[in-house]
Amino acid sequence: MNLKEIKSITATKIRTSKGNPTIAVVVKTSKGIVEASAPQGTSKGKYEVREFSVRGIDFSIRFLNALGKKITQMDIEIDTFHDLIKIEKLIKKVDSSADWHIIGGNALYALEAALLKATAKYHGYELWQFLLGKRKKMIPRLLGNAIGGGMHLEKEKKTDFQEFLIIPKTKHFFDSYFINLQAYKEAKKLIMACDKEWQGLLTAENAIASTLTNTQVLDILDELRKRIKEKFDIKLELGLDIAATSFWKGKGYIYKNFPGRNVMRREEQVNYVFDLIKKYKLSYIEDPFHEEDFKAFSKLLAKLKKAKIKCLICGDDLTTTNPKRLKKAIKEKAINSIIIKPNQVGSLITMYETLELAKKYNIIPIISHRSGETFDNTIAHLAVGFQIPFIKAGILGKERDVKLKELARIERKNGN
Ligand code: PEP
Ligand code: MG
Repeated sequence: MNLKEIKSITATKIRTSKGNPTIAVVVKTSKGIVEASAPQGTSKGKYEVREFSVRGIDFSIRFLNALGKKITQMDIEIDTFHDLIKIEKLIKKVDSSADWHIIGGNALYALEAALLKATAKYHGYELWQFLLGKRKKMIPRLLGNAIGGGMHLEKEKKTDFQEFLIIPKTKHFFDSYFINLQAYKEAKKLIMACDKEWQGLLTAENAIASTLTNTQVLDILDELRKRIKEKFDIKLELGLDIAATSFWKGKGYIYKNFPGRNVMRREEQVNYVFDLIKKYKLSYIEDPFHEEDFKAFSKLLAKLKKAKIKCLICGDDLTTTNPKRLKKAIKEKAINSIIIKPNQVGSLITMYETLELAKKYNIIPIISHRSGETFDNTIAHLAVGFQIPFIKAGILGKERDVKLKELARIERKNGN
């Protein structure tokens, strides 16, 4: 598709599920209208790019609209994913900073995702088909955030860990989607029976905001796992996003909801997480240590290897979808899994570089929603189009549901 085929590119301000402003981009061609928008994190990693311009979101929007006008007059072909480099080259003439501080990462992501959708549509494809080509269609496995706290909740009494995740083991995505909804309802019953202080509050991602301790919640999930097995004969794996940076205070991890315990030093945290993995047979742990502590990640991974325990140790704030951070993590043998959040780096080309690097080194990529979400379904398409084996999302809420429903729909379609 020649850029001159584009009738208009328009950027506007929209609100995320948390009510904060972000950017949506609409692209019109003779083949129709497409839209993409960028989400927003709450517990953001230090190494993420800027969301918006240093001059504010309104500047990012003005920048996009001016750029959009220019782009549509250019005699440039965009026919493959990698052709996005041509757009980035144009932008780099104005913003050569590593953190996109003039355009902003959310602006760049929304623009690139919308341009890709428009290009796919122009050629008669859906985005996932356009990205996948002739390769085999694979639908990711689902990690659902069932119970949570941490920075996703503005309240004193809450779990220190940010997310308690459930991961159904099913052949089809649709069944995982269904099981997570059933498990969520069952988890609510269990929380209501055990957590007398819970008054229906949910986190930013609509996870149950229990006031219980981390291990009390894990006990509940252990019971939940048994019930789901009995009722549906489906295995439910368990995971955590500890999001440890949020309670690392320079010298130790400060636990607020851990009776008899306040501070945990690095070494103690390594042993604590290892013991939790063993005791609760956890399959997945994200950010068990703060974002600068590659060494603690390596220690945990080595301990698990020695004990022959299989568990994904995943970097999110640690790696921020950034290839340089991932290279360091690979060198330090810190992780065997990585969260992919496109707006952590802004550029889809950079995200792809991280993804390919991860695959090359057998680091399992997991594409993820953010706590402040929009109705955009791009991550569902990226997951299938780039053969990403897992997706992390909330279980309830329209902004989460559009992504899950889209995956279920893609799964239903025969072939590519
Ligand atoms: C996360 O930490 O994995 C997450 C989704 O949270 P946020 O979007 O707040 O970074
Ligand atoms: Mg995380």
